[in-house]
Amino acid sequence: MFCTKCGGAIDENASFCPRCGTSVAGAIPKTEKKLVRPQGDKWIAGVCQGFARYFGIDVTLVRLVWLATVILAGTGILAYIICWIVIPQEYST
Ligand SMILES: [Zn+2]
Repeated sequence: MFCTKCGGAIDENASFCPRCGTSVAGAIPKTEKKLVRPQGDKWIAGVCQGFARYFGIDVTLVRLVWLATVILAGTGILAYIICWIVIPQEYST
């Protein structure tokens, strides 16, 4: 997709234009903005992938943060299970 302000190319998962910083959330189709668990490229239930897409950040970063909470605080697994239940599964298109 492309920025509505400067016309620069933007990553499909990004929320902001890397060139001018314009929020492109409005340009993203409604289904892309919802916090869902994608069914492709997932580890367990796609929770990390869903958060990464929702916030427009790298899934690796989400997984590292989650792993840190599991190792350091032990709350990551519980949080993951809660997210698994709460976040709806993405409909396969
Ligand atoms: Zn732009």
